Amino acid sequence: MAPAFTASADMTRRAANANIAPGPRPSVLDTIGRTPIVRLNNIGPKHVALYAKLEAFNPMGSVKDRLALGVIEAAEQAGLLKPGQTVVEGSSGNTGIGLAMVCAQKGYPLVVVMAENFSIERRKLLRFLGAKVVLTPASEKGTGMLAKARELAETHGWFLTRQFENEANADVHSRTTAREILEDFAELGLDYWVTGFGTGGTLKGVSRVLKAESPQTTIVVAEPDNSQILASGIAQTRQADGSAAASHPSFRPHPMQGWSPDFIPKLTGDVVEAGLIDRMEPVSGAAAMQGAKDLASKEGIFAGITGGATLAAALRVAEAAEPGTRILAMIPDTGERYLSTPLFDGVPEDMTEAEQAISTSTPLCRFDVATVSPTAVLPLDAAPAATAFVEDTIGDPQQPVVMFALEWCEFCRSVRKLFAAAGIPFRSVDLDSGSFKAPASSTEIRKALFLLTGAPTIPQIFVGCELIGGATDAFDAFNCGALQTRLEKYGVPFDKDLKADAYSFLPKWLHPR
Ligand code: PMP
Repeated sequence: MAPAFTASADMTRRAANANIAPGPRPSVLDTIGRTPIVRLNNIGPKHVALYAKLEAFNPMGSVKDRLALGVIEAAEQAGLLKPGQTVVEGSSGNTGIGLAMVCAQKGYPLVVVMAENFSIERRKLLRFLGAKVVLTPASEKGTGMLAKARELAETHGWFLTRQFENEANADVHSRTTAREILEDFAELGLDYWVTGFGTGGTLKGVSRVLKAESPQTTIVVAEPDNSQILASGIAQTRQADGSAAASHPSFRPHPMQGWSPDFIPKLTGDVVEAGLIDRMEPVSGAAAMQGAKDLASKEGIFAGITGGATLAAALRVAEAAEPGTRILAMIPDTGERYLSTPLFDGVPEDMTEAEQAISTSTPLCRFDVATVSPTAVLPLDAAPAATAFVEDTIGDPQQPVVMFALEWCEFCRSVRKLFAAAGIPFRSVDLDSGSFKAPASSTEIRKALFLLTGAPTIPQIFVGCELIGGATDAFDAFNCGALQTRLEKYGVPFDKDLKADAYSFLPKWLHPR
């Protein structure tokens, strides 16, 4: 019999963290916030205590999940957002991704306007979550992206979340992030809180609460060293609604996606005017990347570039701090969102020399010596029903292009992609598919195929009863035009203008060139 169910200490802690009773949460939105603060043990000088607040623990992996829920629920309560109304926002990614989660759960269509220079992963994530992504030229910068979002909202009557000016953004951080920090440091006390700013929602919402309730905490704001729009002291020109009237003159492109747009957002400007910032820390792009790498490889914390940058600023604070000083760095998101950015430059795809040395230190599964197949038994005959099935299939005049395939085999998928791109109608006989029906077993059919073609591998491709061969044979035949000649011979239509290297349809790891 299964042991009686008792709540473990871990479970009790988890339930307490979520601020709701144990049991299923009403929805994914009830998992936002209550992110953990962890001690960093292997980074930084030993005389201080460094901590990181890990916003990647939010369901869509960033601090912006808080804002997304905050602005949507505030708009619902104020009657500004009607059921089924489209939501629109200009976003470098994380806000859009958070909004996409909230809109998916609550049933609002979402359009995210994003400058083309933000990472591809973000676009794909948004579309996967059901949002539409409208790209804007990188040359138009953040202000152009936001102007486009505003124009779309005005033209179509959509709800614009106005993350850079919306007080609900700062309010959600005062209600949640700030309270979490105060609770977690209630006994220890906190000497420094280090953050950057994107909208300034985190900065405004948290700093005003800390100033009021933990006045001994020094507020440190980091920004890219080549784009010091705050430290420059140059004020931002604004329109009547608080949005920026023009790019800030000190803005320069920097790698910290999500930080320091090309203007000082209203929410950030409010913090400057209120005098809540005690110290500014410029951070170089290289230090930000190194910070993210150190978090990953020394602490096992997978953070994005701005998390690395915040750590770098916190380390600067740590250098000159008194012994025993407690420093908290905000870590806004996960590194998984940056695989295609400079953060992963130099992270190799292939085995390094050191890895190859490990590989060749034992005999099995190596690339430098061919694996000898242990006593492959070649079939001498096949069930007559299987042979008849193969012959009938390749001889079907209605469907002259046939591929005997495996449903999820990468080579088969690549051939399907080539045929789709070239507009070639074909039949894929997926021998391992759950829905595959034939008068003989797939094992017998593979035997029959071997006896016909002499090849033990799948896929095997035919045009009008003539064997083309396997995937690479089909790619070679396409590249030299022999496949097209065969298609014409059997009256199969195809796109004569397609100019492509057939091998480009293979995933990179299978690419022989
Ligand atoms: N880091 C990343 C990766 C972000 O996406 C953002 C938000 N754009 C921030 C930091 C800054 O957060 P906030 O908007 O609250 O200032």
